[in-house]
Amino acid sequence: MEHPTGGGESPSQDGTERRPEEAKPAAIEKLRERINQIDAGIVSLLAERRQLSIDVIRTKDVDRSPIRDQGREEQILLRLIQLGRELGLDAHFVTRVFQEIIDNSIRLQQEYLLKLASQSGGEPEIIRVAFQGIEGAYSHLAAKKYFAAAGERLRFLGLPTFREVIRAVEDGLADYAMLPVENTTSGPINDVNDLLLNTKLFIVGEEKFRVTHCLVSTADVPLTALRRVLSHPQAVAQCSEFLATLPDCKVEYFTDTAMSVSRIKEEGDPSQAAIASEEAARMFGLKVLCRDIANQKENFTRFLIGAPKPRAVDARIPSKTSIVLATADVPGALAESLLVFDRNGINMTMIHSRPILGNPWEYMFYIDIEGNIADERVKTALDELSRSSRFLKVLGSYPSQDLPPTVPKPQALGGAKPAGAAAAARGEPSPRAQRGEKRSASFEVKGVRIGAGAFVLIAGPSAVESYEQILECARQVKEHGGQVLRGNCFKTRSSPDGFQGLGAQGLDYLCEAGRAHGLPVLTEVAHPEDVDKAARKADLLLIGARNLQNYPLLGEVGRVHRPVVLKRGPMATIEEWLRAAEFILAQGNQQVILCERGIRTFETAYRNSLDLNAVPVLKRLTHLPVIVDPSNAAGDRELVPPLAIAARAIGAHGVMVEIHPDPDRALCDGPQALGFADFAALAAQLVG
Ligand code: PEP
Ligand code: MN
Repeated sequence: MEHPTGGGESPSQDGTERRPEEAKPAAIEKLRERINQIDAGIVSLLAERRQLSIDVIRTKDVDRSPIRDQGREEQILLRLIQLGRELGLDAHFVTRVFQEIIDNSIRLQQEYLLKLASQSGGEPEIIRVAFQGIEGAYSHLAAKKYFAAAGERLRFLGLPTFREVIRAVEDGLADYAMLPVENTTSGPINDVNDLLLNTKLFIVGEEKFRVTHCLVSTADVPLTALRRVLSHPQAVAQCSEFLATLPDCKVEYFTDTAMSVSRIKEEGDPSQAAIASEEAARMFGLKVLCRDIANQKENFTRFLIGAPKPRAVDARIPSKTSIVLATADVPGALAESLLVFDRNGINMTMIHSRPILGNPWEYMFYIDIEGNIADERVKTALDELSRSSRFLKVLGSYPSQDLPPTVPKPQALGGAKPAGAAAAARGEPSPRAQRGEKRSASFEVKGVRIGAGAFVLIAGPSAVESYEQILECARQVKEHGGQVLRGNCFKTRSSPDGFQGLGAQGLDYLCEAGRAHGLPVLTEVAHPEDVDKAARKADLLLIGARNLQNYPLLGEVGRVHRPVVLKRGPMATIEEWLRAAEFILAQGNQQVILCERGIRTFETAYRNSLDLNAVPVLKRLTHLPVIVDPSNAAGDRELVPPLAIAARAIGAHGVMVEIHPDPDRALCDGPQALGFADFAALAAQLVG
């Protein structure tokens, strides 16, 4: 930390230098005091804003307009970003702060309407919530969060099984059932889904709860001393990678996470541990050895809240409806059912299937749609569905917890119209990559659209060199309108010497920097064995030019679900390039993005010749998106801006450029990297 240097401090009377912390207590105190005042001011302004947003909903209550007006929210945000820029605040910071504030205001308005409804419906004095497990279990924590507003009126009833939880509410022993139905790591929770099929309960709410698993023990022992770990099978599945790193340690299933904490406490053997929440560890007075040990950070469990009666949801609240459906056993029945939603303009947010017990190879479909059962479109759709299905049960409509954050729209480009003509005989790709009658593809990656109708700016260093370097690049990318952060960790170099990349550590830095600035991340994979690791963390994968015909590698990326940026080889014809794309598509992965990066010609004045002809030709031949990398083509930063602008002008779906905080010190490909000022100028021309 640097000390603020405010006005030259003179040496003290006795002639010795005073250390800064002795020298400036008064100045620092003053600054801190001012910061405290500002913070208090921010809080009181937030409170005032909150009050105004309640006043707004009161008037909305009169004119019955919906709570959300995303057009207006977007305008507010754009105006604030502009203002922030003038005052030296970066766009991402302003966006994050205000997304939080807008989100809070929508939730507040929602709560207000729900409260009005419950007052008229007469919510009971005491609210009894049944859940599976004992206190400290995730269901208990999620219930505390969902019903937080009920405060002192809450009572909990922990029961051994989900069946008993549902029965308790059916029999009037509890008012609500807290039911986990799916987890973002381990998938649907089958027992609960099966019970929902036959229950008399209705779904009246949902809670998406972040599950942060901890390894808990009775003493502060090293991990190598552990011999036995207990937990619920779901928690074990979600932490499988961490558990695999514990040597000589047996993993045993137990009824629930909190109960496994209670058991290891009873046994008091320090070679035993449990996987559970931090709260469970605290409740039982045990030690947390490791935090956040799930395979993926985004580990959420979605709970449904069951009640004896359905609850009407105010039409102004964004809501969801859950149904269970069995289609007729005729060809095309499922497609026909799903088209019903499309015809009625209804978005489906979830679908999964369960086998129908007793009817082998027949399935029930669990489906969530956006909208309220009282909404005409939903009514019509359900009515049509009931006529074409063998079974249809509406579980209920409830306020949705998915409030998509307001984002200023990325610049949309018209994009060149695909030529309808038959593919040229030369360079004709094999069938999957061939345009044929296909619409131009476009994929969404964390809210960023890549492909038809959009232009994406991808930027970042050639290689991730340190956390500070990639974080600083991420900030610049976001600030200037870039939408994807690139950075290689597993390098392919054409020489055995020099920087070889930070590997898995680099990937963690890249992901962290992407998360910090709300950017999806792209990284190169060079060996088949890196693909799985990279695909688990990065949002997009890159196949470098030297690997275009590395078929084992193409095979691996064909089997993962991440979009793949496929670089043209410097010696590859368009036909060879499309054959490589075909190979990926044939393994299952349909999200291939072609990236022109220059080819070898007789010209030696620059590294490679950027073949911009390829862009319109590819748009004729294939439905796949086409982007351009001028950095690796030119090998010279001065050529990058004009080539990037030409690429956009010729109709590319995006541009990828390399940047670096200090290009002359870059460990890799420095001569082609843009410094931040040059990048800002280019970005302003490309997407500004
Ligand atoms: C890259 O973009 O990181 C890269 C390796 O470039 P190329 O394969 O095009 O040389
Ligand atoms: Mn590079």
